[in-house]
Amino acid sequence: MKGNVRANLFSRLSTRGRFGTGAAVASAAALIALQLGGSAAIAGVSSADIAASPAEEWLSYGRDYGEQRFSPLAQINAGTVSGMGLAWSADLDTARGQEATPLVHNGVLYVSTAWSMVKAYDATNGKLLWSYDPKVPRETLVRTCCDAVNRGVALYDNKVYVGTLDGRLVALNAATGKVTWSIVAVPNQHDYTITGAPRIVKGRVVIGESGSEYRARGYLAAYDAATGKLAWKFHTVPGDPKKGYENKAMSAAAKTWAGKWWTMGGGGTVWDSITYDPKTNLILFGTGNAEPWNPGPMGRKGSNLFTASVVAVHADTGAYAWHFQETPEDRWDFDSDAQITVADVMIDGQARHVAIHAPKNGHVYLLDVKTGKFVSAKAFVPVNWTTGIDPVTGQPTLNPDARYDKTGKAWLSMPGAIGAHSWQPQSYSQATGYLYIPANIAGFPYVADKGWKPTEIGFQTGMDSAATAMPANLQVREGAKAASVGALIAWDVAHQKQAWKVDLPSPWNGGVLSTAGNLVFQGNAEGNFVAYSADKGEKLWSFPTQTGVIAAPMTYSIRGVQYVAVLAGWGGVWDVAAGILAKKGAATHNISRLLVFKLGASGQLPAIPEPAKMVLDPPANFGTPQQIAAGAGHFGRYCSVCHGDAAISGDLNPDLRHSGVIASAAALRAVVLGGQLHTLGMVSFKSALTAADAEAIRAYLVHRANEDKALEAKAVASN
Ligand code: CA
Repeated sequence: MKGNVRANLFSRLSTRGRFGTGAAVASAAALIALQLGGSAAIAGVSSADIAASPAEEWLSYGRDYGEQRFSPLAQINAGTVSGMGLAWSADLDTARGQEATPLVHNGVLYVSTAWSMVKAYDATNGKLLWSYDPKVPRETLVRTCCDAVNRGVALYDNKVYVGTLDGRLVALNAATGKVTWSIVAVPNQHDYTITGAPRIVKGRVVIGESGSEYRARGYLAAYDAATGKLAWKFHTVPGDPKKGYENKAMSAAAKTWAGKWWTMGGGGTVWDSITYDPKTNLILFGTGNAEPWNPGPMGRKGSNLFTASVVAVHADTGAYAWHFQETPEDRWDFDSDAQITVADVMIDGQARHVAIHAPKNGHVYLLDVKTGKFVSAKAFVPVNWTTGIDPVTGQPTLNPDARYDKTGKAWLSMPGAIGAHSWQPQSYSQATGYLYIPANIAGFPYVADKGWKPTEIGFQTGMDSAATAMPANLQVREGAKAASVGALIAWDVAHQKQAWKVDLPSPWNGGVLSTAGNLVFQGNAEGNFVAYSADKGEKLWSFPTQTGVIAAPMTYSIRGVQYVAVLAGWGGVWDVAAGILAKKGAATHNISRLLVFKLGASGQLPAIPEPAKMVLDPPANFGTPQQIAAGAGHFGRYCSVCHGDAAISGDLNPDLRHSGVIASAAALRAVVLGGQLHTLGMVSFKSALTAADAEAIRAYLVHRANEDKALEAKAVASN
């Protein structure tokens, strides 16, 4: 005990020391910046600043520690928003999905873009102050499920923090963008990536990781903000029993597993939500799916703690406090990683301090922040994987048909793997008491691959992706498209019921901001940035963004002028993996740009370049039925996660039906086995595929291209 007291004293002393040093460095940097003619703005953000969350600024990913994304600013309001226009915009040099929320402090807007780059702008006019490129190797793409995305930076003291796709945590000087320190924050750079925004808690940078479709063992870690030194690490799933468990939480969790789960890592990655609650001094976070999705091949049984759960740890030590599992026996990729919002809500006449969570499994959960005790849950979209949730324990009764690995049959799940609500940030308005959820209403077919074995490369799910690929049948395609939609749902948290809903034509729309101006802002897959009234959902204003918006907007105020900023740029997992469904929205192409609005502005965007007309002109079919079937299997397993379901790609990655590489065996082999395009991210798959496999993939691609060419001709003829 004595040791602990002394350690605490020392850490307090060194924290003070660090503040002092930080201030000195900050003023020196300010001086340098002034001498260079740059901005004198220095971050200088403290934990107290984040806790106070001043209305004019946006200091942390979810604005305040409760991640409410509710701004008290009201100059732009339901009465004035019709006069809002484009104040400035900045074209980005990364044409992939843009998922980040910008931060603003001292007149400077800091934002991360795809490929984990960071930029700082004068927040009033868009003048670029500095930019940083971590030069993430493009080969990293092969171990990402979901595009080269990054969701944001953290600010603390005089530094900007970013997690990079290849697993580094980097601290930048806020005045210059120069690297202060950089560490590798993942156990290895083969199986783990980072896409989430770091959070700052008591002088530490807290960050998790992605990789539950690879070979990752999930954890949350805290690093000293000044040095990058690891302070604590909490694993979300137990490791190899022979090596001994790190703590009591891990030995308890191990009882909920069977088989040799640790050989695949186990999953449970912490790829998005991290919420600090100063009131209880707990850090709440969500965990991803168990690995692989299909429990059959690895003999996985049980509820698999702490996957698909909300977990709380003590902020100072990272020690376990409580957990609540939302999806036991997860086999549907029902990550619980969606943002967790903490708020004080009056429920049945009682003031409750609750965590509000709307994860991929389709329910809004309310949990007591201090104890993790279940308060209530209610479905916010159609759900069929459970037949009901116990009102006392919060545990679901699983629909037996949803255990596709046990039934051996295909299972069309609602929601599907995209989730009823994924990382797109929700917003909780203190004015209306509503949670605004960017929802997806889209099913997904699951079929177990019975003979599945893990490999060293590619997406590890245990699914038979060939069996579930979209058939070349117009009726089926149109049916699937019609059944895949989106919605902006305003959810009355206290009463656990929908207050209003705006139907959206496509899934995968943007995150949400609510304000004291009775406004809710959201961009969408149709290429519009829209303001609705927060109380009724009336559409009050709209701006054509020219590209799908998936990121969340934010707002700030400088010298009495309120601005609203949003990162535009279509992409993410829905674009790269969803095949023909990814093209459903009207603006499912990428033009990456930061858009900033204010009242009285009337800026215009340059005209959109005419999209190139893609005509299918494949070589003649050559494969035998067996070869095509084998190729479909290999494509489904190794290629479809980037090049799209049924070889129909989204906007970001090459559509192989149109590619020159299918013209000859040698051309495809050079890429798939020879790694000819590795600098673009297309690495060699020779550890998993033979020359015969590559030729089977080519036979399948040529077959698919000819199928779709015939289908297009038929559609033209019938028009
Ligand atoms: Ca997942």
